[in-house]
Amino acid sequence: MDSHPQEFPFGIMDVVELLHLNVRRRQYDSVYTDCPFCGDQRGKMNVNFDKNVWRCNYCGQSGGMLALYARLHNLSNAEAYREICDELSMGGASWGREDFRAENASAIRQEAETAGREGISQSPRAGAREIHETLSALFGMLKLSDSHRRHLRSEKRGLTDGQIDALGFKSTPPFYMCRSLTERLIQKGCTVAGVPGFYLHEKGYWTVKFTTMTSGILIPAVGMDGLIQGAQILLDVPIRDKNDPSDKKGAKYIWLSSQNRNMGVTSGSPVHFVGKFPARTVYVTEGLLKADIAHCAMCRSFLATAGANNVAALEEIFRSLAQSGTELIIEAHDMDKFRNAMTAAGGNKIYLMAKKCGMECRRLTWDPNYKGIDDWQLALKRKERQREGERKNPGAADILQNMQDAECFLQKYRIYQLDFGREQTPIPFAFEGIRELHKAGFEQPPAKEYCLVWDSVLPCPENSMDKEILKRIKDAFSDHLPDGYKGRQVAPSDILELYDEEKRSYYYVDTGGFEPVRFSPFLARTIQERESTGQ
Ligand SMILES: [Zn+2]
Repeated sequence: MDSHPQEFPFGIMDVVELLHLNVRRRQYDSVYTDCPFCGDQRGKMNVNFDKNVWRCNYCGQSGGMLALYARLHNLSNAEAYREICDELSMGGASWGREDFRAENASAIRQEAETAGREGISQSPRAGAREIHETLSALFGMLKLSDSHRRHLRSEKRGLTDGQIDALGFKSTPPFYMCRSLTERLIQKGCTVAGVPGFYLHEKGYWTVKFTTMTSGILIPAVGMDGLIQGAQILLDVPIRDKNDPSDKKGAKYIWLSSQNRNMGVTSGSPVHFVGKFPARTVYVTEGLLKADIAHCAMCRSFLATAGANNVAALEEIFRSLAQSGTELIIEAHDMDKFRNAMTAAGGNKIYLMAKKCGMECRRLTWDPNYKGIDDWQLALKRKERQREGERKNPGAADILQNMQDAECFLQKYRIYQLDFGREQTPIPFAFEGIRELHKAGFEQPPAKEYCLVWDSVLPCPENSMDKEILKRIKDAFSDHLPDGYKGRQVAPSDILELYDEEKRSYYYVDTGGFEPVRFSPFLARTIQERESTGQ
């Protein structure tokens, strides 16, 4: 079949384009790309566009152009053929960047203009109630697969079956059901024109844009009025843009959108609300699923934007929150707000918007070993369960007793942590390993960015190695912090000092251990200095 490529309306390079394969080298009749089967990133896969065949010189997989698409997605060649044709009919890989780039109103306008320029007619957006009714009916026809349910129940997500069902997560349907699902919605009297995801196929029927490459878990975006405004997909396989650097993981979330499809419409970037309304206190975070999980763990009301700097749409929502009695906004963006200027800028905008609407705004920080508020809350729950287990099964107490019996000495130590100052200026390597310190251009940790937060002694068994002592210090500052301690949980980018009368050793807390470093303690601030400057 593949030996007669002239029978096909496309060539193997179209498939390479659709799959976003990274082309490393070009020759007169072929290119070398990274291999999507073995994950090779050195360009070992040869794609011959003269013969429309491919072969990975590393893992040995090979075949024709349909097999490339079909094998990657567990489809038959016939299914792959139909899907490739459908995707190419509208001018290329339309599940690419445009679906998740729509970060703010001006970007959306720009894209609508681009779509217009490229001659793709768009539908006017349907009314809020129509969008809600169509998407609710669509969700009602879909199921949540066992593997997706397992993922949501896993330690990483921590949801219960009841919560999963209440929040309405579903699995995306297979490509071949898109048309019949849409027909059933139309028969039920639902509007599909102008509802994000739906478009008019060139063969004249309405359908909805679910593809094998964008399969995953559908997450409804619900407004404060309780209406579904759209949906995100948590992708089974992240999509990498072919221009992305090879260490970048690719997009995990995309919006269900039919932009760049005939008579389609952009998803926009709706703000998701979960919790009780009205509420005196409302948390704001980035990511719909994160907000859902944090809400379930904390029983608080959450607003979620699609990205940390994607906050323009919040202003109007803040105004109506203030009118309905909300007094406090808590900014709960990921802890990378301490190193990422973009995230920090988003947080500052939230602060100013809340003030403008007459509400208080606080920035929430937590154990920097956990990136998101959901990760942190789930970790707290795990530790709570662990402690309950230990109470029921007190074996650990014996180990402690044994240690107290053994011969001990008192190890003197100090903890230095990054000081973000009154302005909370981000520091690019905050809470990351030593590689990020080096990447930020520092050979050694810059002591003047640090504050001495603790100076104490730790009883240690005789003959303890430095690494063991450091590990015990980190553990001691991971859960219940001692009274009077004004620092954070010990986390990557902190400096630990072990000292006695003769020697001082400094260690950088790395992501998987401790690295000896040079450090100039006299440049670091003290807590007293920090407090006297009002920080
Ligand atoms: Zn390979």
